[in-house]
Amino acid sequence: MGVMTKAEYLESLRRMHPTVYMFGERMDNVVDNPRLRAGIEATGATYELAEMDQYRDLMIKQSPLINEPINRFNSPPMSVDDLVARVKINRILGQRVGTCHQRCTGMDCLCALSIVTYDVDQKYGTRYFPRFMEFLKYMQKHDYTANAGVTDVKGDRSLSPKDQPDPDVYLHVVERREEGIVVRGAKAHQTGSLSSHEIIVLPTRALRPGEEEFAVAFALPSDTPGIIHVVGRSTLDMRELEGCDCGNLYYSKYCPTVIFDDVFVPWDRVFLCGEVEFAQELVMRFSAFHRQSHGGCKSGKIDCMAGAALAMMEYNGTEKVGHHKQKIIDMIHRAETLYGCSLAASYEGHQEPSGVWFIDTVLANASKIHEGKEMAEAIRLMIDIAGGYVADLPSERDFSNEAVGPLLKKYLAGAKGVDPDKRIKMYRLIEKLALESADTISDIHGGGSPEAHRLTILRESDLDSRKKAAKRLAGIEA
Ligand SMILES: Cc1cc2nc3c(=O)[nH]c(=O)nc-3n(C[C@H](O)[C@H](O)[C@H](O)COP(=O)(O)OP(=O)(O)OC[C@H]3O[C@@H](n4cnc5c(N)ncnc54)[C@H](O)[C@@H]3O)c2cc1C
Repeated sequence: MGVMTKAEYLESLRRMHPTVYMFGERMDNVVDNPRLRAGIEATGATYELAEMDQYRDLMIKQSPLINEPINRFNSPPMSVDDLVARVKINRILGQRVGTCHQRCTGMDCLCALSIVTYDVDQKYGTRYFPRFMEFLKYMQKHDYTANAGVTDVKGDRSLSPKDQPDPDVYLHVVERREEGIVVRGAKAHQTGSLSSHEIIVLPTRALRPGEEEFAVAFALPSDTPGIIHVVGRSTLDMRELEGCDCGNLYYSKYCPTVIFDDVFVPWDRVFLCGEVEFAQELVMRFSAFHRQSHGGCKSGKIDCMAGAALAMMEYNGTEKVGHHKQKIIDMIHRAETLYGCSLAASYEGHQEPSGVWFIDTVLANASKIHEGKEMAEAIRLMIDIAGGYVADLPSERDFSNEAVGPLLKKYLAGAKGVDPDKRIKMYRLIEKLALESADTISDIHGGGSPEAHRLTILRESDLDSRKKAAKRLAGIEA
């Protein structure tokens, strides 16, 4: 097949039967549940774009592995152009859905594994790389989506995995069998786990000798027996479930806690098992790719916020107000700096021994630190321009109530000649862009906590050459 349409993607999810709980109840129908459907629609946009004439060349690539056209979301980068395309696609998707499209996490796992499995094989003579390539071909052939099972629940943060009172707080191997392994644990904040066909599990941190059972990477269908998805709360979830005051299809992102209750993984799906020193390598590669991805989609989200602020200026009659124009400039330069940093990480990329291209880690992490701070500033500027109704706009139900609706619309009129309905809709969008908890919190914690980005910059930067340059200029060293 190689490339699915959005309709085929939805049908393919309907054929899956994952174990899902939400609000204390077991759910059978994932695709038609409005809370989950919002996220599925956002991932659906990655299929939709591949069907559109103007984006087809960017979204679709010929796979040398299966000799068929494939969606780039299943294509580890084989050149600088491929690295750049990742950022461009994410920006377009960020603009289109105004939230997380949920498909980059799985792609970033595929990219990390396509580098690290090769390196493990070189050191140990294992066969993870050819095994992984078979999995990659399977993903390409079916145009499947994967999510990233990286973040363990972690228990006491001051203790390493093997010192935890309950070792299950880090996912680990509990049994080795001739045909495969059995794993137990839980992965938190699993973006789009139910919009995905496969879950790719990687370790969450560096590990030491003695922690071999935690050094495990694998992929499984998201409806494998023993995998339980528990969908968490989000600030705006009841609106989706009630079908009211949402405003758009992609309303809010969902990130379940996914429990692995003694789950069997066949050997052909195991990509690391016991090689502790490669755990950190996998986390670092995944996180760097993922931080680069964020630079694309979050600059696209600032584009939405700047667009919403500009529309509000039109509707409120503040188009000519000087400080509003300044604030739009401040939003745009934040988007472009984020995008630029993420593009720079791509242009400074290099080829790894497996043949796959890797980005510049320091630039990717600099981009993520910038995002963590500046997305909040962009939100603040958008709210400043829009006004207080971002906080407490009446419900659609009040606007359509016969008694109070006409009165509300009279009092919600803005600039002369502007239909109040447009103003109301734009306020609703701005409220969502500012307050959708999962997406705004991912600006800070997505792809690792801010301190992780900072430590990566310290570890990966060439400090010596900087010191030498300063000493030369000071006349201390030649
Ligand atoms: C919306 C959203 C979507 C996400 N999507 C995914 C996903 O799809 N897949 C996935 O695998 N993960 C996902 N994540 C998880 C994300 O990577 C983590 O939230 C992030 O790594 C932080 O981990 P934590 O939430 O456990 O917080 P913690 O690690 O507990 O961090 C909280 C604070 O404590 C500090 N801290 C913790 N431990 C230590 C220590 N030992 N020493 C010093 N400081 C410490 C941190 O720096 C931070 O300041 C997502 C997160 C969010 C919020």
